[in-house]
Amino acid sequence: MTKTANHSPPLYAGIEAGGTKFNCVVGRDPLNVLARTKIPTTTPKETLAKTRDFFLEQSKIHGEIKSLGIACFGPVDLHKESPSYGYITATPKKHWSNTDVVGYFERELAMPVAFDTDVNGSALGEHRAGAARGLDDFVYVTVGTGIGAGVFVNGKPLKGLVHTELGHQLIARAEGELDGFKGVCPFHSNCFTDLACGPAIEARWQCKGHELSEDHPAWSLQAHYLAVLCVNIAMAYSPKAIILGGGVMDQPQLLPMVREKFAALMNGYMMPPLALDQYIIPPGLPGQSGEVGALVLAQQAGS
Ligand code: ADP
Ligand code: ZN
Repeated sequence: MTKTANHSPPLYAGIEAGGTKFNCVVGRDPLNVLARTKIPTTTPKETLAKTRDFFLEQSKIHGEIKSLGIACFGPVDLHKESPSYGYITATPKKHWSNTDVVGYFERELAMPVAFDTDVNGSALGEHRAGAARGLDDFVYVTVGTGIGAGVFVNGKPLKGLVHTELGHQLIARAEGELDGFKGVCPFHSNCFTDLACGPAIEARWQCKGHELSEDHPAWSLQAHYLAVLCVNIAMAYSPKAIILGGGVMDQPQLLPMVREKFAALMNGYMMPPLALDQYIIPPGLPGQSGEVGALVLAQQAGS
């Protein structure tokens, strides 16, 4: 008697590893998640073990998992030849400096693991199935707890010596900005994260971003900093689109304000040859870019 062949496509695991939570998913296709869980980011020991246990449980239910993709907060070491490849390196996130993330899952789950930054993961998700489908040159920006960006050039995330950190570029303060705001970046004065991430808005205005009214002056200042970021991105990488995602962009009035200030700052020089609502755009997979990207990474690891 011949054994019935298992024709199910392979099963993949993905982790969108953030400083607040690990969003863990399994699926046979990046767009078809079979199960997910969110594990709070506490200590590495506890968080990594709970993540491993979720995947072990899922493989009991759905069958063997072929490979794992991790889109991780950082900074991280992405160089395969480096002794600390797959580690979170010196991070402001308490307890997490020098954590071997890839090694842990390779040992505990015995499967191939692909690893990238959280924003490169989101960019990968947007490239596969979101607003960057068919675009080989684009930038995905998140404006959330920090500011970060994944830069795609020729269809691949740009890595270089470490990885890009566009949210820590140093910038000038907006004209007329209130004196005395100290900023929130633990490393720099006057980087984008320092002045314009979600916690910076909260520290500056003493109020959570979502509690500020639509016409509050916070948004004009915020739009200015994000427009400066878009100008710097346009000049540095000549992308075909800039996707602005992350919790702070949940303010619907913000995106048109960024486009308007971008046009003013560019001042007619090198303006993209397309309408700005086709150029500075929202994610096509809001809230899901990262998990889709993590599963695409898993597919790459397993191929
Ligand atoms: P993370 O960066 O941790 O992955 P998010 O992208 O959700 O998470 O960003 C969280 C930040 O976004 C917080 O600082 C939060 O205050 C801010 N935020 C979330 N929702 C809104 C909103 N509707 N308006 C303004 N700010 C928001
Ligand atoms: Zn910084």
